[in-house]
Amino acid sequence: MPAVQLPQAALPPIRIRSIEAAPLLGESPKGGWSHEIRPDDSIHAIIAVHTDAGITGYGSSFTDGRLVQAGLKVLEPLYAGENALEPERLTEKLHQNTFWMGRGGTLTHTISGIDIALWDILGKATGMPVGRLLGGSYRSRVQPYCSLLMEEPGLMHRVVEEYREKGFRAFKIGWGPFGRALDTKLDEAIVRAAREAAGPDNKLFVDAGASDANWPHGLKWAMRTAEMLNDYDVGWFEEAVKPDAINDFCHLRRVSPVPIAGGEVLTRRQSFLPWLSRGAFDIVQPDVTKVGGISEQRRIAWMAADFGVKYIGHGWNTALGLAADLQMAAAFADADLVEYIGGSPYVDGILAEPFALDSEGYLAIPDKPGLGVAIDREKLARFVANPDAMFA
Ligand SMILES: [Mg+2]
Repeated sequence: MPAVQLPQAALPPIRIRSIEAAPLLGESPKGGWSHEIRPDDSIHAIIAVHTDAGITGYGSSFTDGRLVQAGLKVLEPLYAGENALEPERLTEKLHQNTFWMGRGGTLTHTISGIDIALWDILGKATGMPVGRLLGGSYRSRVQPYCSLLMEEPGLMHRVVEEYREKGFRAFKIGWGPFGRALDTKLDEAIVRAAREAAGPDNKLFVDAGASDANWPHGLKWAMRTAEMLNDYDVGWFEEAVKPDAINDFCHLRRVSPVPIAGGEVLTRRQSFLPWLSRGAFDIVQPDVTKVGGISEQRRIAWMAADFGVKYIGHGWNTALGLAADLQMAAAFADADLVEYIGGSPYVDGILAEPFALDSEGYLAIPDKPGLGVAIDREKLARFVANPDAMFA
């Protein structure tokens, strides 16, 4: 056997030259929110971290891009000239030094995008996919569940059917009229229509979206609805009670015949501890583009595993959020699903090589260095004002 040539020295530091943020605008998908998102509202932003080695890393943040741009101004003195090859140390430095400026909000969202981009750089510099850098590779492909807004039953049936025909084998329906119309018969008719369209063998999940403004129901509605969902073989019931109602979540988890999911609104790993230690969730869904990035997400996923709670990522907002979730799914044994928003141009319309389902409705986990995806400049230019700033 020929002798293996191992590197004789560690990689020298790669310095951060600048960080740019671009709000995604023009085709922002609806969220089913009571104050609905308009196409020109910014709720997602792409982040590019440029380095003196010519490597650019990419991430995304789930918030208004103007907040991310302001967050970068506040954080710049802390990251300027830093070694981009040390994502955990550097983002912890950003967290530690901004304690008094609103942790958990804009700065945490901004740090999330930076952190994802730093892991992308570390992977590109070392020639390894992020999943392997996180410690291993449990799978080379993962099942995406197609996330769709709730509609009136007839339309719901058609929409689920449309995405089944595109090759999806798992679906989540949420928000829209469910619960909000104060009509339990309508709620059931929507779920029945979705189950019929999905077929008996495909997965179906339900998201009440109780983190919407002024959610009108409490624990008793959630308990009754959980029983109904069980009749349609629903795989989990998500955000079934108001986002701060931890006691209700804990009770619901104990009595519900279907698994209880939540956690997308929480940020920072520390916020998850009471929810996990008190037993609020069967499934925890941190959003990598909000919680602090991959560095926080991996610690939340490990903490969940130790509490016997399943981790499924919620980074659906852009192709980069999904790319981060795919790398996390490689590295965690439990993570056998990723969320995939149906029909979002910010997921399907910005990569050089768009994501594609295989014949069984799975997505390959990119095995190229870093996040393993490349943004297409012309495609991105449709949605951002300053596309050139995002490339080295
Ligand atoms: Mg949700």
